[in-house]
Amino acid sequence: MVERFLIQSILDFAFLFFIYELRNYRLLKRAKYLCKIGTVKVYQIESEDPNAITIKSLIFGKSIIFVGRITKEIYAHEEGHLHQPNFMFYFLIAAALMIAYNVLTVPLLLIVYKIMFWHYERDADLYAYRLYNVKYESDVFRPKSQIERLKAWIFDTHPPDYVRKIEEYYDKKTNILKLFIHDLIS
Ligand SMILES: [Zn+2]
Repeated sequence: MVERFLIQSILDFAFLFFIYELRNYRLLKRAKYLCKIGTVKVYQIESEDPNAITIKSLIFGKSIIFVGRITKEIYAHEEGHLHQPNFMFYFLIAAALMIAYNVLTVPLLLIVYKIMFWHYERDADLYAYRLYNVKYESDVFRPKSQIERLKAWIFDTHPPDYVRKIEEYYDKKTNILKLFIHDLIS
């Protein structure tokens, strides 16, 4: 029984890890290599809409991919990600164990995944603010509709743009879940 669980966990992990590294590989393949800063490789993908992705891969190492133009504000945020633990890797291990235990834990894992991203994206924003006094700027206004706000939280990889620019967001004493609930119900 325990043996079956362990084998299933390893197979699940191998599958999740493969998907994750395949995504990294495809992103890096699309991007143009620019330079190396310490152990971090810097890449760029052409785009009109500036953004960036930090990859911490066991196979490809640490990389930052700038999507669109390179700005010091975007770099400050990505540097924040470089200082964080490799949370994706730990999440994949936890997810593999949970799925091997019971596949019905998938919805719960998706919720944990989402909250984990909100937390670490905001942590990178707080890092940029603390070290470089950079606050996220956006001209996106807060939607009046509750459904639209919920969609912004769910479908964006970061907390919504209109939340990332408010004062309370940069007060590290305010928990991200509190910001989420407050935004949704107020
Ligand atoms: Zn980020």
